[in-house]
Amino acid sequence: MKADQFLVLIVDDEQFTRMQLRLALEREGYQTAEAQNGREALNACQQLHPDIVLLDAIMPDMDGFECCTRLQALDCCQHTPVLMITGLDDQESVDRAFEVGAIDFVTKPIHWPVLRQRVRRLIQQSQIQRQLEAANRELQRLVTIDGLTQVANRRRFEEYFYQEWQRMAREQMPISLILCDVDFFKFYNDTYGHQAGDRCLQEVAIAIKNTVKRPADLVARYGGEEFAVILPKTDMEGAILIAETICSVVRKLAFPHINSQVSSYVTISAGVATKIPQPGSDLQAIIAMADQALYQAKTAGRDRVKFMPLKSAEC
Ligand code: GH3
Ligand code: MG
Ligand code: MG
Repeated sequence: MKADQFLVLIVDDEQFTRMQLRLALEREGYQTAEAQNGREALNACQQLHPDIVLLDAIMPDMDGFECCTRLQALDCCQHTPVLMITGLDDQESVDRAFEVGAIDFVTKPIHWPVLRQRVRRLIQQSQIQRQLEAANRELQRLVTIDGLTQVANRRRFEEYFYQEWQRMAREQMPISLILCDVDFFKFYNDTYGHQAGDRCLQEVAIAIKNTVKRPADLVARYGGEEFAVILPKTDMEGAILIAETICSVVRKLAFPHINSQVSSYVTISAGVATKIPQPGSDLQAIIAMADQALYQAKTAGRDRVKFMPLKSAEC
């Protein structure tokens, strides 16, 4: 750990204490900033994002306890460690310091070797915490993303579709599902090789993703060469329009496919189904309908969209 990468914010109403702390910390190599009251401390936190705050408990106006509470409420500083420094070492102050979220506590007169070790350890811990959180976020991303195409995976599809199905049931709004399947893709692999097939799937995924615009829409890889698009608050006409656009955009990618029996380029077929979900109803029915519509698009000659309105009895 290189101390000069880290900024320590010193908050104390006594100038002499601030100076002592600053000199001691600068000797260790830390960068420092000072605030002489709670308000200045909150401003400095928002502007400078310190790696640790040394906070005097007893200050006029806003004391350290209140300052610590407010600091934890700031988005930028929720995870910034606060080391409370005070002349008080009574039980109540110690308890309060921890209650308001201070991570540790030292008393005046300051025992410098102790302070030095605490600051070092607290910065280290908070760095590790940050790395863990970043790793967790990345893991969360990885378990929901399809590795080849970088769109949502099947697991995310199931989870999101269930969530949106329930939401649309509550709001009594339509939800549409498009299932798309690349035409004669087995022949594509046979003709151009599996790696070219992979690249083709990647481009098809990007093309579908770029067609779908609303933040609530989700594009997922549903199976091998099959993609699903979830369109909350979208009626049948809207969904058909999007499905038609997806087919046209994929066609315009103009990936040569000499062994396709419908075109000289890679094409897809799409099935669309729409429903206003009834509370407590099963979403398998709409998936089955989109699948049937897709089957109809295939048998009717591929490179086209078919749709399937759901009767309420089916849901
Ligand atoms: P249809 O027009 O009826 O959909 O015919 P198709 O050949 O596309 O359908 P089929 O289900 O017979 O073949 C799908 C092919 O997709 C077979 C499989 O090897 C290929 N495939 C599935 N996943 C991947 C993948 O991740 N990469 C590559 N390159 N090919 C894949
Ligand atoms: Mg196919
Ligand atoms: Mg298929």
